[in-house]
Amino acid sequence: MALDERAFFTEKPEQRPGRFTCPRCRRTNDYQVRWVRRTKKASVPGGAGDADRARFAKLRDHLLRLDDEVVCKTCGKKFEIPSHHSLLFVDQLEGLPKDEELDAEIAAAESQPAQAPDRSKLPARFTRPSRGWKG
Ligand SMILES: [Zn+2]
Repeated sequence: MALDERAFFTEKPEQRPGRFTCPRCRRTNDYQVRWVRRTKKASVPGGAGDADRARFAKLRDHLLRLDDEVVCKTCGKKFEIPSHHSLLFVDQLEGLPKDEELDAEIAAAESQPAQAPDRSKLPARFTRPSRGWKG
């Protein structure tokens, strides 16, 4: 039986600031949103089969958002967090490309010295702006 993905990570709760506008009263406030930071374990856990090892190799450290909604500080009504980011990769978050992404960016920079790496081919999660999530 395949291991639960959580067996591959160390989980740690984390609060991150977010600035949201209430859809009812239109006031913008700063909120603390609960996330869990999942850090990949140093080695494959015991009991892992070949498929688990392959999965483990592809996993990346990431943050999962626990809160879907916040309570407006102005009017007291709950509203949904207006962001589709419920998962953030830690390397994306910290702006430090690693391994194959770094290699790809170096290759892109060398072949097109006057241009930034072409991010239009990347999945949407890499190109969407993350306003208000860096504090
Ligand atoms: Zn409000």
